[in-house]
Amino acid sequence: GKPVCECNTCYEGPDCSQFLPDCAANADGGDPLFLEPFWMQHAESSAVLVAGWYRMSYVFADQTSISQVLQNHILKVHSIARNAITKGKYIVFGVGSTQLLSAAVFALSLNLSSPARVVAASPYYPVYKTQTDFFETVHFEFQGDALAMKNSSDSAGNVIEFVTSPNNPDGHLRKAVLPFANAIYDRAYYWPHFTAIPAPADEDIMIFTISKLTGHAGSRFGWALVKDKEVYLNMLEYLQLAEMGVSRDTQLRALQLLKVVLEGDGREIFHFAYEKMRDRWENIFQTVSLSKRFTIQEISPQYCNFFEKIRDPSPAYVWLKCERKEDTNCNAVLGAANIKGRSGNLFNSEDRYVRLSLLKSDDDFNLLLYRLKELVNKEDGTE
Ligand code: PMP
Repeated sequence: GKPVCECNTCYEGPDCSQFLPDCAANADGGDPLFLEPFWMQHAESSAVLVAGWYRMSYVFADQTSISQVLQNHILKVHSIARNAITKGKYIVFGVGSTQLLSAAVFALSLNLSSPARVVAASPYYPVYKTQTDFFETVHFEFQGDALAMKNSSDSAGNVIEFVTSPNNPDGHLRKAVLPFANAIYDRAYYWPHFTAIPAPADEDIMIFTISKLTGHAGSRFGWALVKDKEVYLNMLEYLQLAEMGVSRDTQLRALQLLKVVLEGDGREIFHFAYEKMRDRWENIFQTVSLSKRFTIQEISPQYCNFFEKIRDPSPAYVWLKCERKEDTNCNAVLGAANIKGRSGNLFNSEDRYVRLSLLKSDDDFNLLLYRLKELVNKEDGTE
């Protein structure tokens, strides 16, 4: 079992059984602890023990086995999940997908005479802007909303579009909105956990991460599948200059986790994750459908290439909207009911929207559902 060192949030007492009644439901942040029970069930087979003398060399000085073995496991996971075409693609490891997003911008804009303009369609994951602004060079700058550029007929110069599919925050499967742009497809959530897989993805640059596949966000491991050799080499150069490669220890841990993912052809983890996310969504959906004050995004059941059937939605986040005219700050409305979400403006959208995470621990989710039900039940009484 799990050693009890400290109580989960919202509980106290010698055996952590005492619920703190004023505790806020924290649905902010994307920490994927919903998979923690899965890894507790697989504690032994997922464990890694590394002796002090093992693999001490720099990554580049030891191009043998482990990276190659890890690559092969990644290719196998894709072929089982049926979520990406890996044939004819190069693979680059990164310190989380966060670093690969930046490496891809760098790689696509390296030899340009005028700066590339980096865009994403709203609502978008905030890091595309914050990171591009932070690392801005003469080669690229963040320009804002891809939809604005689409409507302005301004297509001059080099444009890089981040496409998140399924999207964070709203879970929709997306395609690039700018046909002339170099697209970087952020596929962090393109796993049977979070979406139907209508077909294997086959874009020129696709970025994945174990953070949302296995839930090990703290290990910092991601990979990019890249079609073009020059872009691939540029990304490798970025990794080499920034980090001298991804930690061996991280690679070793990722390898052990992927071995467990591959057990039974992925049936265990994909079924566990899908069913959990689907149940969470269904509960939220039922609760909000009783409300006149709030609505959530619509996601239709869709055919899934992995499950080989039509399956229900199971997104990573709720994109909640406050419908009352006066509720322009939706996160404040939720805050008054002791629910913490992430405000719409962070995603370059309106504060009438709030993102609620469905990825957190069972305790976090149960409290969120409880508080949301309380809030919806109170609706008629307060009007
Ligand atoms: N892309 C998206 C769309 C995300 O939501 C996240 C994590 N919240 C990331 C990338 C970053 O993931 P990583 O931990 O691999 O850096």
